[in-house]
Amino acid sequence: MCGIFGIYNHQDAAELTYLGLYSLQHRGQESAGIVSSNGERFLYKIGAGEVQEVFSKEDLVKLNGRFAIGHVRYSTYGSSDIKNAQPIVVKCSKGFLALAHNGNLVNARYLRNKLEQQGAIFQTTTDSEVILHLISHSKEKNFVDVLKKVLPQLKGAYSLVLLTPNTLYGIRDPYGFRPLVLGKLGKSFILASETCALDIVSAEFIREIEPGEIVEIKDTQLKSYKFANSVRKALCIFEYIYFSRPDSILQGQTIHSVRMKLGKILYRELPTQADIVIPIPDSANSAALGYSQESKIYFNLGFIRNHYIGRTFIQPRQKIRDFSAKIKYNTVKDVLNNKRVVVVDDSIVRGTTSKKLIAMLKSAGSKEIHLRISSAPIIAPCVYGIDTPTKKELIAANYSVEEIRKFLGVTSLYYISINGMVSATNYDETNFCLACFNNNYPVKLKS
Ligand code: 5GP
Ligand code: SF4
Ligand code: MG
Repeated sequence: MCGIFGIYNHQDAAELTYLGLYSLQHRGQESAGIVSSNGERFLYKIGAGEVQEVFSKEDLVKLNGRFAIGHVRYSTYGSSDIKNAQPIVVKCSKGFLALAHNGNLVNARYLRNKLEQQGAIFQTTTDSEVILHLISHSKEKNFVDVLKKVLPQLKGAYSLVLLTPNTLYGIRDPYGFRPLVLGKLGKSFILASETCALDIVSAEFIREIEPGEIVEIKDTQLKSYKFANSVRKALCIFEYIYFSRPDSILQGQTIHSVRMKLGKILYRELPTQADIVIPIPDSANSAALGYSQESKIYFNLGFIRNHYIGRTFIQPRQKIRDFSAKIKYNTVKDVLNNKRVVVVDDSIVRGTTSKKLIAMLKSAGSKEIHLRISSAPIIAPCVYGIDTPTKKELIAANYSVEEIRKFLGVTSLYYISINGMVSATNYDETNFCLACFNNNYPVKLKS
């Protein structure tokens, strides 16, 4: 998962991209980069870390030019090499190009082998670089024709912003796995992963980029092209459950409102009696609030999260029990002591965080702990750009709900049903990727 942003024709293009990336920081903290164009050539700054660590005031001044794209990268195992940071900038047979990609191609290795046999030399280990090689190899003259030939060769998830010295492209794969929205600020067009990045620069939301669509923004004009007809849509349902910011609008509704509904449905599916409802902050706040409204059980804050952890990580020499959870969360003792608690979380992946948090609830004196999860059990890994662990590490792929309940040490454990989860979105299941819940991968893994 990553965040992408692009802006066309604004005198403060790099500054606005910086702000956009700032608001997309939740989508990736491993690296950040901005490429700006002055109409002829690119200037760029790409570095490891969070947005505010990577760019100085001076950097932004140097990144002059009226066009810019930016990227924040999510950490994935084994590939945190700075060479893999984006946007990727190249000079190729089509001139200067800069690309920022959110998603993961499932046939990247196949395409890469094919290109290497034809003599291509890769600079990075990312799947995204393959796209630039295919563009460079294309014989088409017109750039939109190039894209129409190249994009159908890609399989998997890709929302892209692509910059030439004077044109900005926004592209979304035919399934629409990852979001991409279009906005306008005065005469400038903006592309972004989420609407919260439009809000921060006071841009107006226009619409989502459609699955299988290319938008070309050039000379203050926007043109739209279809490069594929989507057989079905497959928006990652985890955008609603966890990834997107609650204030972002997706498919016409705030993420917050859908999460509230997830919480309401969680209660309806298994009504439970308790004294208080608490979230694991921040990702489960909205769902816990929905649960509270539906059940009429008081909402409270049992955990407080420290937001200032950053990248520094001290391991104390003395072993502190549940240290990695304690550095991020602490309990509010009088809220929890002697209470029957419903605790809502958005997902259980490995189960390790949950186990530590439950232990903290117990030592704060909770009498009963009813854990409620606003997504169905994760039984299969993601291949479309989310860093879920292998099947072996996914607790729900290996244990029953009752076994997980015992492992976590809670009074009761309930996951929302897949149907309940989908119904909270107000769309039907043909709109979504649900592969990590039902093992049904919309785009198959083979080349
Ligand atoms: P675990 O069960 O692996 O110990 O932790 C699950 C928690 O990690 C959830 O509360 C969720 O909010 C958080 N989390 C962090 N990154 C991710 C992610 O990429 N996917 C999901 N589903 N949850 C994540
Ligand atoms: Fe999203 Fe899961 Fe599909 Fe990955 S497998 S795209 S996390 S729904
Ligand atoms: Mg969480």
